Amino acid sequence: MEEKCGVVGISLEEGDAALPTYYAMYALQHRGQEGAGIVTHDGFQQHSEKGLGLVAEVFDDDDVEHLPGRASIGHLRYPTAGEIDERSCHPYTVTSKRGSLALAHNGTLVNTDEVRAEFEERGHTFSTNSDTEVMVHELASNLVEDGLLDAIKRTMKRIRGAYSLTLMHDDRVVGVRDPLGVRPLCIGKLDDGYILASESVAIDVLDGELVRDVRPGEVVVLDEDGGGFESHRLFDEVPAHCFFEYVYFSRPDSTIDDRLVYDARREMGRLLYENHGVETDIVSPVPDSGRAFASGYAEAGDLEYSEALMKNRYVGRTFIMPTQDARETAVRLKLNTMDSNIEGKSVTLIDDSIVRGTTSRQLVKLLRESGASEVHFRVGSPPIVAPCYLGIDMASRDELMASDKDVDEIRDEIGADSLEYLNVDDISEALDMPRGEMCTGCVTGSYPVDVEGETCERTKDGSRAGAD
Ligand code: AMP
Repeated sequence: MEEKCGVVGISLEEGDAALPTYYAMYALQHRGQEGAGIVTHDGFQQHSEKGLGLVAEVFDDDDVEHLPGRASIGHLRYPTAGEIDERSCHPYTVTSKRGSLALAHNGTLVNTDEVRAEFEERGHTFSTNSDTEVMVHELASNLVEDGLLDAIKRTMKRIRGAYSLTLMHDDRVVGVRDPLGVRPLCIGKLDDGYILASESVAIDVLDGELVRDVRPGEVVVLDEDGGGFESHRLFDEVPAHCFFEYVYFSRPDSTIDDRLVYDARREMGRLLYENHGVETDIVSPVPDSGRAFASGYAEAGDLEYSEALMKNRYVGRTFIMPTQDARETAVRLKLNTMDSNIEGKSVTLIDDSIVRGTTSRQLVKLLRESGASEVHFRVGSPPIVAPCYLGIDMASRDELMASDKDVDEIRDEIGADSLEYLNVDDISEALDMPRGEMCTGCVTGSYPVDVEGETCERTKDGSRAGAD
């Protein structure tokens, strides 16, 4: 299974696209730290470099210099607790008599097991267990009969799930966003070309200009000379945007659908105060993810914003630690208290989400040990009750604290004086996005796609107009 990742695609008028791709990937590092890869095309052939680790670890100057071509795509892979090996780093590449293909994927596909079984039946072999590899095979085999656009359309009809893709057919760079628009993807204009990227921060880092988001069901083909792009809206369905992109995953300085993520989080913080405000001496975020929420909350309540915790910025995400013990140690490694800001004070601690509850439980305990007189916890998302099948590593159901506990039980479990969450309507209000246009699977247990053993919230004819 592929998890939450970052993708980039660049087409330039002249010069090599590898270096700007590398910078753009740097800006998207938060979307994946397990591995990184860049594939370029110089008009004759593909060049590729990938490896495990952070962008800065995978590539050195030499590597980037040895990736010639005006066309390039890049990928960052999100860490998972499962097996890690270099073969499963993107972009995936295949070469056939229809040319060379490279594909970078963000999201998770839900029906690739069936598609893979059919390929295997016909004698195809796969080198990884990745869903993306199945998609590359599907696209390559559709290219035998169709031109690029029709082959993509057929692939989009066949493969379901969440996918924001950048792909390269020979030296043509293409962006594809699934019909539900689950994961973000945007288009930017550079001085000397165009870029497709998961988030607008990748455009900012190149001093480019955000043109717009790729629409759900849209295929964007960048001109080979970097002069522009063509748009093909192949599907027009009711979207199911992942609200968790706004709550946690995307960088706060990214703009998605004309909304600065930081502002969306502040608005959620404001609603948290409006609906569940409590007067305490200080309001403190869980850094870094709770910062914007806490600032919106404190401002709404005219309360003192003060940081009770500091983060060691050299520690990676605790979420991926494989055992509970390791996770608990990691929270301590990552966050420390500033006692003189806490002693004798009542504190409202604000985080974006509670997943397993490891972080919140530890932090409440730490604050009490530092002398807090009261610790109230406020959460900028609804309780996470179910897994994500569409691209976020969210733990399995039995690991999720809210899957079998109500809010009072969770409050007792984490040891807080009070605990409150936002609900789905608050999120919809804060994002100014109708409830029916968001994917809320992880907080409702009802998904916009068919997943075996889960409830699907959409009827077969739930889509609006069909493909044109
Ligand atoms: P937990 O300790 O398991 O309850 O995780 C909650 C913490 O992890 C919060 O501080 C969140 O900001 C962060 N978090 C939430 N979702 C994810 C995710 N998918 N990957 C990594 N960290 C996450």
